[in-house]
Amino acid sequence: MKLMKLNFKNNNFSLINEILFKIFYISIGIVSIIAFISYINAYKIEKNKKLDELSYYVSERVRVDSEIFKLAEDNSKVFQKEFMKLYNSDIKVTKDEFWSYYFVDSQGATRMKKEYFDGIYTKDSNYIYGMSSFIGNNQKVDDADFQRRLVLSIKVLSKLGPAWTNRFPNVSVAFPENAGVLFYPEELWGLNAKADLRMNELGVIKSVNKKDNPERKSIWSGLYYDETAQKWTISYMHPVDFEGRHLITPGNDVYLSDLVERLIEKSADGTYNFIIRKDGYLIAHPNNPDDGKKLIGELSMDKISIPLVKEAYGLIQKNVGQDYNKVKIIESKAYDSYFAVGDFKETSWYLIRVLPMKNIRNVAHLAAMKVFIEGMAILFTILFIVYYVIKYQAERHLMKLRQAAEAVGRGEYDKVAEGKIELPMELKNEIGLLSRSFYDMSINIKNFKENLEGIVEERTKALEKANNELMKLSLLDGLTGIYNRRAFDKSINDVFLESKMKLGTFSIMMIDIDFFKSYNDRYGHTSGDEIIKMVANTFKDNVRKEGRVFRYGGEEFIAIFYNLEINMAKKVGEEIIKAIQNLNVPHEESPYEVITVSAGIAEYKNTFNSPEEIIKVVDKKLYMAKGKGRNCLEI
Ligand code: GH3
Ligand code: MG
Ligand code: MG
Repeated sequence: MKLMKLNFKNNNFSLINEILFKIFYISIGIVSIIAFISYINAYKIEKNKKLDELSYYVSERVRVDSEIFKLAEDNSKVFQKEFMKLYNSDIKVTKDEFWSYYFVDSQGATRMKKEYFDGIYTKDSNYIYGMSSFIGNNQKVDDADFQRRLVLSIKVLSKLGPAWTNRFPNVSVAFPENAGVLFYPEELWGLNAKADLRMNELGVIKSVNKKDNPERKSIWSGLYYDETAQKWTISYMHPVDFEGRHLITPGNDVYLSDLVERLIEKSADGTYNFIIRKDGYLIAHPNNPDDGKKLIGELSMDKISIPLVKEAYGLIQKNVGQDYNKVKIIESKAYDSYFAVGDFKETSWYLIRVLPMKNIRNVAHLAAMKVFIEGMAILFTILFIVYYVIKYQAERHLMKLRQAAEAVGRGEYDKVAEGKIELPMELKNEIGLLSRSFYDMSINIKNFKENLEGIVEERTKALEKANNELMKLSLLDGLTGIYNRRAFDKSINDVFLESKMKLGTFSIMMIDIDFFKSYNDRYGHTSGDEIIKMVANTFKDNVRKEGRVFRYGGEEFIAIFYNLEINMAKKVGEEIIKAIQNLNVPHEESPYEVITVSAGIAEYKNTFNSPEEIIKVVDKKLYMAKGKGRNCLEI
C-alpha cells in the first residue's frame, strides 16, 4: 500500500508528460513534412521567380543596350535620306566651292582646311566646327561627282553631326574612293592621318565595297581598342548605293567600354555576365576583376581557359537555334548553374548571365527553415497551452480522485461516501464517470462494512445469550465451582420431599461474609471475587461428607446437612466460622481486622409445608447472628 502510494506520487505528472511527448513527436513529424513540402514549393516558386527575373534582366539588358546599336543604324538611315535628298536635287557644287573646303598638302594628300574644325561661319551663315576630311595622296580629286558627294556629305554632316555626338563620339562618311569626312570634335583626324593612308582598303571600310559586299549589307566591325580615345570601340558602316553605284558609306563609332563594363559587372549574389560572339570569340568576361580588361576583346574559344565559358558555348550551340527572339535559359548540371542567353543581333553577340542554382536552394532552405521554426514555435505554444489546460482542467479533478482513493486506502470510506471529500461527479466526461463509479463503490463498501458489523454484533449477542442459558442449565457456579443456586433449589426440594415422606431428615446452614461491601470498596471487586472463592472452598472443605455446599447468591452460601444431628451441625458450623477467621485475610474495614463470616442453622420440622419456610428460618437466624456482632453462629 505504501509502495503504491509512493509510485502514485512520483509519477504525479507522467500522464501529462506522456500526452505532451506524444503530441510533440507527432507534431515534429508533421512540421518536418510541412517544412519539406515548403522546401519543394519554395524551390519551385523561387526557381520560376529567379528564372523569370533572369530572363527579364537579360532581355532588358539586351533591349536597352541594343538601343545604341539601333540608334547607330537609324542615324545612318537618316543620313542616307538627307544625303540622297541633296544628291538628287539640282544643287550644283562648283570647283571653287569644293576648294573652299580643301587644300592639298606637301605630300599630295587633300585635306579639309583647319578652320572647319576650329569653327567658321559659311556664306549661308551656318556655323561649322569639329569637321575634318582626308583624301589619300593616291586618290584623284578632279571628278565632279566625287567632289559633289564630298561637299554634300560635309553639308549633311555639319547639320546632323552636332546633334548626334551626345551619344556617339563621331559621325563619319567613308567613300568607295580613298576618302573620308568626319564630324569628330575631339580629334582632328583629317589633318593627322598619314598622307599615304589607304583607308578604303582597310578592314571595315573595305568590307562595304561592292566587291567584298555584293549583298550591300550594313556592317558592324569587331570590337577594337581605340588607342587615341583609349576606349573599346565598335564601328557601324552603312553603304549607300544609287542606280547600282556606291556613293557613300555613312557610319558611327560606338564606345563600348561603359556598356561592356556594365555588362560584366559581378553581382553580390554570385550571378555574373559574360559576352561571347556567335562565332566563338570571347568578348568580355569578369574572370578576374583586377585585370578584367584582359578578357575584353577578341579571344577565340580554343585560347580560352575558362571551362564554364566553353561549356556555355557548347550548350548554346546545341540548344539555341539560329533565329530566336526570346531569352533562352539553359541548365548546366556540370556547373550547377543556369545560363540565360540573350542575343545582341546587331553585333552578333550572346550575353550570358550565369545564375548559380545554390541561390535558389538557399532561398528554399530559408523558406523551409522559416516554416520549421514557425511550426516549432506554434507547436511549443500549443504544448504549453495543452499542458496548462490538462493541468488545470484534468489534474485538479484527478487530485480529488487521488485524495478519495487515498482515503479509501486508509479505510475511511465514509469520507467519500458522506461527501466530506468532494468528487468531480458533475463533470460530463470520463473523470466525472470515474468519480461517480468511485463514489458508488465507496457507498457500497461502507454499506457492506456496516452490515457486517451489524451481523457480528447480532451473533455476539446471540452467543452471549446462549452462554447464559447454558450457565443456567448448568448446576455449577461459574466463579467458585461449587453447586449453584439452581442445584440448591433442586436439592432442597428433593430432600424436603424425602423428609416429608419420613425417609430421613436434614438441616441447612447459611453463611454470609461480614462487611463485604466495604471490602469491595476497600480492596476492589476482583479481590472480592477471590475472597468469595476462598470462603466457598473453606466452607466446602469443612462440610465434607456431612452435606453439600451451594453458592446461594452473592457472598451467601448454604450447606445442606443430611441426617446430621443438630449438635453436630452446630459443631461443624462453629468450626467453619473459626476456620475462616483463621485464614487471617486482612480486612481493615472490619472490627475483626480479618475476613469473617456469620452463619445461621435451621432444622427441618414436620410443620414446614415448603422448602421456602426453612429458608426463611435460616435467613432469620443469620440476620440474628449479624445482629449479635457477626463472626458467630445462630441456631
Ligand atoms: P453484612 O453482611 O456484614 O451486614 O455487611 P455486608 O457489607 O456484607 O452487607 P450485604 O450482605 O448487604 O452486602 C453484600 C455485598 O456483597 C454486596 C455486594 O457488593 C457484594 N457481593 C455480592 N456478590 C458478589 C460477588 O460475586 N463478588 C464480589 N466481589 N462481591 C459481591
Ligand atoms: Mg449478604
Ligand atoms: Mg454480608
